[in-house]
Amino acid sequence: MSSVVVVGTQWGDEGKGKITNALCSDADLVVRFQGGANAGHTVSLDGVPIVFHLLPSGISVPGIQNIIGPGVVIDPIALAAEITGVTERGVEVGENFLIDVGAHMVLPYHKAIEAAEERARGDSAIGTTHRGIGPAYADRCARDGIPIGALAAFDEFRRRFEETVGRKNEHLVRLYGEEPLDARALLEQLRPVALSLAGYLADTPEILRAAIREDRNVLFEGAQGTLLDVTFGTYPFVTSSSTTAGGVATGTGVPPSLIGEVIGITKAYTTRVGAGPFPTEVTDDTARMIQERGAERGATTGRARRCGWLDIVALRYSIAVNGIKRIIVTKLDVLDSFETIKVCVAYEIDGSRTDRFPRTADELRRVHPVYVEIPGWMSSTAEARQESELPPPALAYLKQICKLADVDICSVSVGAKGEAIVEFTSIF
Ligand code: GDP
Repeated sequence: MSSVVVVGTQWGDEGKGKITNALCSDADLVVRFQGGANAGHTVSLDGVPIVFHLLPSGISVPGIQNIIGPGVVIDPIALAAEITGVTERGVEVGENFLIDVGAHMVLPYHKAIEAAEERARGDSAIGTTHRGIGPAYADRCARDGIPIGALAAFDEFRRRFEETVGRKNEHLVRLYGEEPLDARALLEQLRPVALSLAGYLADTPEILRAAIREDRNVLFEGAQGTLLDVTFGTYPFVTSSSTTAGGVATGTGVPPSLIGEVIGITKAYTTRVGAGPFPTEVTDDTARMIQERGAERGATTGRARRCGWLDIVALRYSIAVNGIKRIIVTKLDVLDSFETIKVCVAYEIDGSRTDRFPRTADELRRVHPVYVEIPGWMSSTAEARQESELPPPALAYLKQICKLADVDICSVSVGAKGEAIVEFTSIF
């Protein structure tokens, strides 16, 4: 089987961009299956970081077919700007890029409604990225969305858009007291965008199924993380799509029987952006050290990330939900200067110990982490390229993770640059 799914096992920002980019050298196709421009995958291009929000991470690697599947929601204005931006950095975006006609659009009214809703929630705000992702998925479910394929017939699109903006304005003005949107001005903005994206529109599911049948290597690139999945995450503090491996089938049209291995990306510690329960969060100097060494700021929002220790209960849950057998551990180097490292091995709730990950945010908020402390290695792992070059306590930490989570590790990332990786077993 030649198809591999890469998913984050935590709350996103596990370093999936770098890993996907590294795996690209063996891939023939790279596919986004969910999320939207709320994702932010940072990869290093000629030593300089570049963030992809909607474009698949394989776009900077020559010879790869990159696809945005129908499970993604696309802000056409943001995508056109992203294409211009990466093109200016010398990345070619041409026949190597396809957008499925069925992917729904995030339109300006989605962003306006999301901002108004978050304001209205006040202290109970979800902490969304304000990219209009949630309202776009909501419209898709409510059968009020517009697939991107509609841009190909602009006059018909204009009619639908004007009619929809009329209704959304009612919502914005009457419910939230906001200013109405100007449909005409927005259409002026969308017309050149529609033209620039038209050449990329395609019917992609059969292309993908055929590629897998022909044994070409297909990499499905997850965005966000398992604990942000709309069904299996810490609802309501989640994203609006299926971030887990199951989302590949519904987000690309590739049936489960054609999906091969699922690889989990696990940061050596945990971070979370936005609101919501986070059992292993720390707020002292440890958090500041992790934040600084790991440059833990949102790639999309610039927000400082909340930081904490690795949570094995959550990891085991992610492994179970996704069917993960192997993980890639990232950012091990961020823990280089800790004397001791904590790992959460169980939770305590109402005085009882459990290794079950709660299914509600309220219950998760009530758990207390049970930690084991293990010795740190107090030396740099950044130059390690082989297992034997890792300090023994770092290897012991990795082995401990494998044992506690009942999973194998296929490689470990020890720095932001592409070559900063220690490979144990190959993926394809
Ligand atoms: P993603 O959304 O899962 O791809 O995560 P991010 O885009 O937030 O990537 C995490 C950040 O960490 C980026 O700035 C990467 O360049 C960086 N990064 C990735 N792997 C490593 C690593 O092993 N060590 C360090 N120090 N930084 C890394």
